[in-house]
Amino acid sequence: MSHTCILCHSDKFKVVIQKNGYSMVKCANCDLVFTYPKPAEKDLTEFYQKAYRIDLNGYFRKRPIFEDCIECIECYVPKKGSLLEIGCSYGLFLDIARERGWQVSGIELSSSSRFYAEKTYGLTVYNNKLNETPLFKENTFDVVALWHVLEHFPNPLMELKNINFCLKPGGIVALALPNFRSLQSRILTRYWEWVDPFVHLYQFDIVSIKKLLNKAGFEVVCQKSQRGDSKGLFAHIVYYLFRLAFFIIKTSGVIFLKLRNNIARIDEDKGADKFRSNLDDYLETVLWPMVLKTIRPVDFISYMVRQPIYQRMLGPELFVLAKKS
Ligand SMILES: [Zn+2]
Repeated sequence: MSHTCILCHSDKFKVVIQKNGYSMVKCANCDLVFTYPKPAEKDLTEFYQKAYRIDLNGYFRKRPIFEDCIECIECYVPKKGSLLEIGCSYGLFLDIARERGWQVSGIELSSSSRFYAEKTYGLTVYNNKLNETPLFKENTFDVVALWHVLEHFPNPLMELKNINFCLKPGGIVALALPNFRSLQSRILTRYWEWVDPFVHLYQFDIVSIKKLLNKAGFEVVCQKSQRGDSKGLFAHIVYYLFRLAFFIIKTSGVIFLKLRNNIARIDEDKGADKFRSNLDDYLETVLWPMVLKTIRPVDFISYMVRQPIYQRMLGPELFVLAKKS
């Protein structure tokens, strides 16, 4: 492999996960996990501008999470100044921060999300990388927030250095990230919701993210592992049980349709294909959202069990605040 690790420059790697034609490899020297080979930059840009979609209803359920995030930030930056969110999606977090007295601006590559944020909330949102916008000026922001965004960058070290440049002395970068050392990730391995090597080009844990932040000129002031955006372990297990049941129904249905076509001397397999895709659609769009709603109370009960796990930094999401040093 010709690629070198962005943290330690080692060129020795071990494949840990293979999925969708990409490998996730672990640096033999510092344990940083990243996608290999990297998707082409133009494929990524096109994907984020045109194809990347976040479910609008699911996004607006994040209000309490965003409120917790800004409250935590305000413990470290009591004087409300200027705040930039990179990857601001439909703009809800920026709207919440603005209501609390922050001067906000955003960056978002997805055109549909950006239009929504501008139209609905009247926000100023740029559609370039930070260093290509007029915001790229020294000592400009008190806070730069990235919620589930850093792992999408081909070079997160460079992005953090750019953020460091734009922050005022003592300014804070706020991150939420998938926790690759979480219990969920260890149990579910390649089936974990956040293992998607094309969009998540890096997988961090608390050790590697700290090293990366230090290298970019930051010092971690707050670290937590939490539930955050995750569906939860129980929901994952229920989902895969449904997938298994649907797989059995699909396979037996398709065998039945093929046998019937043979007997009736129908050449095409169109009936079988349609049956298969209708069932897939039904599972993803109708049944799964229904199941998620039904299991929410069970999930709530597991809250007591989850806390000791989260305290050991094994929760599915990392929340980190780091100060420009
Ligand atoms: Zn390394």
